[in-house]
Amino acid sequence: MTATPSKAWHGQGRTCLISRRACFSASHRYSLPELSSSENSSRFGECSLSPGHGHNYELIITMAGKLDQDGMVLNLSEVKHAIKAYVTNQLNFRYLNETWPEFDLSKPEGCLPTTEALTRIIWRRLKPHLPIVSLRLFEHSNLWSDYLGNSMDAFLTIRTHFAAAHRLARPELSQKENEEIYGKCARPHGHGHNYLIDVTVRGSIDKRTGMICDLTSLQKIIDDLIIEPFDHTFLNKDIAFFETCVPTAENIALHITDLLNSPLKSIGVNLHKVRLQESPNNAAEVYAEVPQLETMPKAIEAIATH
Ligand SMILES: [Zn+2]
Ligand SMILES: [Zn+2]
Repeated sequence: MTATPSKAWHGQGRTCLISRRACFSASHRYSLPELSSSENSSRFGECSLSPGHGHNYELIITMAGKLDQDGMVLNLSEVKHAIKAYVTNQLNFRYLNETWPEFDLSKPEGCLPTTEALTRIIWRRLKPHLPIVSLRLFEHSNLWSDYLGNSMDAFLTIRTHFAAAHRLARPELSQKENEEIYGKCARPHGHGHNYLIDVTVRGSIDKRTGMICDLTSLQKIIDDLIIEPFDHTFLNKDIAFFETCVPTAENIALHITDLLNSPLKSIGVNLHKVRLQESPNNAAEVYAEVPQLETMPKAIEAIATH
């Protein structure tokens, strides 16, 4: 006897996350009217230059809901329409400082259109229309912000890279034993990788600067403590820590986490996550605090252009 298909059979009423990508190009400038031009320049560097500069932004919107009888959480053409009407049609090919009132710096409540501030304000504008659970905004492929709807709390990720050699072997074991554990990675003279490193910090968006921390300081900490000492080295011999610790991707990611933790606190943010990609085939991730990004579906990573 053939079973009668029930509603549950096609997923109706079950919860699912869906994501949608939208792109826009826009310009902006970081310059506060209450500061002199030299103060703006020392604070915001080239981002303060007149008349501004532009980015090709990429927005990933993740939504949650129950499947309807058509097998969808939401009709994607309605999602597309809402994103266009409330975000991209208003921002595309515009000078962000002169678009939304939230960026009107002549008002005390106005803030600079930074990536993190923009992500939060897009959330506020889209939330009444779509069941958003997370937003990710790429300013470019090496800088993006995540916002999960928690007041002024936002995440900022910087992607950078270094090239280094390593050998996976435990000194107390024989070559044969090491090759049984680590395979080719235990060969005596080592091999190299172009490591990609994503550092995610979490902090509170400043009401005026729109920033969770000073971007130049954040970049400098990563450069000084990780990139400069690690780049073009043989990790096992050049980095003291790895003389006694096997430099697997996991151990490197953990060591980077330990090196960055306190210095990042000194610029007012918490280290949230370190992701170290050793090759396109393997990566290690360390959550340095509460794993809030666990709520973000893998689909976000899959759909995003990196
Ligand atoms: Zn910019
Ligand atoms: Zn390797």
